[in-house]
Amino acid sequence: MDSYDVEGSNIHVRFLEANPTRANFIIQNFNLETANSLRRYMLAEIPTVAIDLVEVLDNTSVLADEFICHRLGLIPLNSRGVEELIYSRDCDCENYCDQCSITLELNAKCEGDEIMRVYARDLVLVSNPPNDQVGQPVITDEDRQGSCIVKLRRGQAIHMRCIAKKGIAKEHAKWAPSAAIGFEYDPANKLHHLDLWFEGDDPKQEWPVDEERVNLDGGHPAEDEPFNYDAVPQRFFMDVETVGGLDPDQIVNRGIKGLQQKLAEVIHELDGGDNANNDFGAQSPTLNGGGFGNDPGYTTPGYGGGGSVWGPGATAGGTTPYGATPYGGGSW
Ligand SMILES: [Zn+2]
Repeated sequence: MDSYDVEGSNIHVRFLEANPTRANFIIQNFNLETANSLRRYMLAEIPTVAIDLVEVLDNTSVLADEFICHRLGLIPLNSRGVEELIYSRDCDCENYCDQCSITLELNAKCEGDEIMRVYARDLVLVSNPPNDQVGQPVITDEDRQGSCIVKLRRGQAIHMRCIAKKGIAKEHAKWAPSAAIGFEYDPANKLHHLDLWFEGDDPKQEWPVDEERVNLDGGHPAEDEPFNYDAVPQRFFMDVETVGGLDPDQIVNRGIKGLQQKLAEVIHELDGGDNANNDFGAQSPTLNGGGFGNDPGYTTPGYGGGGSVWGPGATAGGTTPYGATPYGGGSW
């Protein structure tokens, strides 16, 4: 593949691969801090649903209750439309209700001589979820079974009421929308951020180089190329793989949106919070001299044209959407 070189300083996103399970893309003209913040936000702070409470009505299988409950928690549930669900802690109900939870029932008994396998598909939705997608077990295998929860022999039974709640992975990893997020910059190590540890004679033999990525990042440095002390990473390779609850592009979208919201909250607080007499909520924070949502290469679906979620505003290069602040005008 040819080198990915985009003129100018606007943020540019190029997709290398996009399918229902992963989004593999490059962000160009971005900075390391923000790219890493996006990665961390996508890993830990995007809400999904997962089984959080289990009422064990019957369990005569060989596995202990806690063992099965832990497995149930880790089964990916469909989280499309999770925004229609509220956090249980914010709900007025006593324990759980349809506004803050989804109830699934697992009820199986082995009556034959063959060993019976209980799968994720056997989790049956018994409550009224806010939409017809959220809370359903994610099943992607060819046999349409999902993950195996427990095996039962003749006479053994399992009956559990599982309460799925909305949460984020910061609280527990079971709410993580993605299994892992690949993140890399400078694959040729031109910036010398890596000190490659090696046992033999040559680190190059022990650390295979991803030639495709090196090519996309401008190729290997020339033999006599002097080291550039001022160089900073500019291209970031991200590979977001979903566990199935959310589409990978939704994870990226929600990551950007959430990060914008967080940054806006910081600026809002710096401006004096709710007491300040200024018009908050106009535009998104400005990055790299251009608007987040205004950059033609970075227009995120769902934000409506070039305007960001914070409003229709046009963020002129260099000025913050919050106008002249006491923190140095529009320079940051
Ligand atoms: Zn409730």
